[in-house]
Parts: sequence; C-alpha cells; structure tokens
Amino acid sequence: MKIGVLALQGAFEEHIKKLEELGVEAYEIRQLRDLDEKPNGLIIPGGESTVMSKLLDDLGMREKILDYAKGGMPVFGTCAGLILMSKETGDPRCNGLKLVDCTAKRNAYGRQLGSFDTVGEFKGLGKIPMVFIRAPYISCAEDGVDILAEVDGKRVAARQGNFLVTAFHPELTDDLSVHRYFVDMVKTK
Ligand code: GLN
Repeated sequence: MKIGVLALQGAFEEHIKKLEELGVEAYEIRQLRDLDEKPNGLIIPGGESTVMSKLLDDLGMREKILDYAKGGMPVFGTCAGLILMSKETGDPRCNGLKLVDCTAKRNAYGRQLGSFDTVGEFKGLGKIPMVFIRAPYISCAEDGVDILAEVDGKRVAARQGNFLVTAFHPELTDDLSVHRYFVDMVKTK
C-alpha cells in the first residue's frame, strides 16, 4: 500500500512524516507522471487553494486525479485541500475538484482569528488537537455528507464515501488518529 501526497505547494512534508510514523509508504506527487504509480490513496495538503487549483491545470493533473477519485481511490484534504475537494467555494479563482457535496467558506474566521489551536471532538476518535491556519469551514453540506467534527457550531470535518476533509491541520499536531482513520479508509476500500 502506498499513499501519495500532492506536493505542489504547502504543508506536504508533515503529512508524509505522519504516514511514515504509521508505517505506511508515502511519496510526493509533484508531476503528472508521479500519478502513474497509481497511489492507493491521496492526501491534498494545506497551502493556498487558488494556487494549487491553477497548478493542477498547468501540470495537467486534474483529470487523472478525478479519474482515480471517481474510481474509488480515497482522498483526504486538509484546509486548502478541503477547499479544493468541495463542490462550491464561492471563489471563481478556485476551480476545485468538486468531490464532496459541500460548500467551503474560505478564510472563514477573518484575519484576527486566522490561526488558532483547540481541542475538539471528532466522531469515533474522541477529543483531538486541531490547528487552524487561515482556515475554511463547511458552510453548507448536502445529504450524504457525514459531519465528523464541529467547533463553535462550525462544521470542520466531514466524510462522503471515499473522501475525507478537515478544515484543520492534523499533520501539525502530535496526534496520529486522523491519519490512522484515513489509512483505515485506504486499507478497507
Ligand atoms: N486560506 C487558504 C486558502 O484559502 C487555506 C489555508 C491553509 O491551507 N492553511 O486556500
């Protein structure tokens, strides 16, 4: 089993470390040919969703990722990754993959509250540390989207079939449980 981490921009190294800590083989996906290795799962990290969305097109990677994702490959998006996986973003500069039937509100906490740490309940995992950096939240979710965590009444994690999204960065904490949850999705697919 091998999990690819989209490494165009942003916080991808931390995800690779987490996967390695779990004993899972992980590799960076930097260009189209890296996808030919057919990863069993894919992580889309935090960063800048508008930049990543443009790079996906510049590098010609969008179609192949969509192909794999629609064929059942589990995909996990954190922060900008959540934005890229949401059906709607309300921002024309962010042409995402539209995998999850939800709306992501970008930079939703405003400038002052752009970054904060908290501890929140994650469905099935209990209380876990959550790091938010200029984070989005899920402002709207259709039936079929299972909300896994809320912080202050805002939806910050969800799953729809083989897709997992978190508005926070589990890779920037000491906790491995969200990555373990994703690895289990990949193992049981
Ligand atoms: N604000 C960024 C965006 O809109 C997301 C920030 C992050 O990934 N930490 O893409």
